[in-house]
Amino acid sequence: MDAMNELFYRDPYAKEFDATVVSCKEGKDGYEVVLEDTAFYPEGGGQPADHGLLNSSHVTHVKRSGQDIIHICDAPLETGRLVHGKIDWDRRFDNMQNHSAEHIFSGLINKKYGFDNVGFHMDDDVVTVDFNGELTDEQVSEIEKATVQAIANNEEVKIFFPSSEELHELQYRSKKELSGNVRIVEAGSSDRCACCGTHVRRTGEIGAFKVLESGKHRGGTRVLIAAGQRALNDYAKKITQTKEVSKLLSAKPNEIAKAVSKLLADDLEKQALSDRRTKKYFEMVARSTQAEGNLVLIFEDELTPFELKRFAGILKEQFPTSAIAVLSQAKSDKPVFNYVLALDPQKAPEISKSLNKGLCGRGGGRDGLIQGSYQTDKETIEKTLRERLSS
Ligand SMILES: [Zn+2]
Repeated sequence: MDAMNELFYRDPYAKEFDATVVSCKEGKDGYEVVLEDTAFYPEGGGQPADHGLLNSSHVTHVKRSGQDIIHICDAPLETGRLVHGKIDWDRRFDNMQNHSAEHIFSGLINKKYGFDNVGFHMDDDVVTVDFNGELTDEQVSEIEKATVQAIANNEEVKIFFPSSEELHELQYRSKKELSGNVRIVEAGSSDRCACCGTHVRRTGEIGAFKVLESGKHRGGTRVLIAAGQRALNDYAKKITQTKEVSKLLSAKPNEIAKAVSKLLADDLEKQALSDRRTKKYFEMVARSTQAEGNLVLIFEDELTPFELKRFAGILKEQFPTSAIAVLSQAKSDKPVFNYVLALDPQKAPEISKSLNKGLCGRGGGRDGLIQGSYQTDKETIEKTLRERLSS
């Protein structure tokens, strides 16, 4: 089969076909089948491979290997036999809609800003396009509008192979310098580009088009787009999400951002109130605490490391010359206690090191304030801290 003259090129709308099996051999991903002709598009030029059926054998991948197009199948096919092929048309048409949309979008960016598309990748639900120049959100949004207009204009998408003289004269986008049999895809008045992919006949077939995200990427801009059915699928997903959030917040769907802002502000206020109450509680406990010799030792339930530090600070104000140890059991299957020690800054490094060693601990600090955790039981910790710090 001549390259660029396979059935998927001659008729990109062929959904079913019959072809003779040229060869079939077992490969590492399945049976590798070569046909006399095929409607299955092999992965290439940023467009993913078609899937579908050859008789009852599932085609899971299609790739080019030299002049051959290899169909990866889950069951063998007899060489010399005529087989019936059926491509997964929903998948293919979605790829055509998105690939054509990408051409128009990239073409319009190239025309207006002179930036090239330097990366193009189609996933199952999104198309990623990278440009070698920075675009603001407003500029991207302007091109989005122009793309939607170009789609609505329903212009013809022409595919042709110019002679080398014609090619020399022609203005077109290409990732590299091309010569020989070059396939040009002209999407109405929006774009002209060298491409090996399959495209819709008229721009109107693309249907919906949406930019989903855009932002700076490696000195240029990365834009995520979706067209056709995948744009509608994305829209449907977002409506579902908005509905759920709207229900949770008891807010109108278009007012959920305002409702979330209010919720976060309320939460900050509650947090500040809770902090003030916790501080009062720490001060109350500090006032009723007695030092054991030179040590103030306190175990409290459910304190975060931040609260432990705060509590130790309050205790240090109450007992400026004592060694302070505040501990709280961490949420863990094993006995683990988070601790904060406020010690004499001179002795702190050495004491903390030996306590960590004796109590399976870790952690450290500076200026006498040590933070960490001990992985042993409460009794052992109490006993060790009393021995080491109370005198
Ligand atoms: Zn292309």
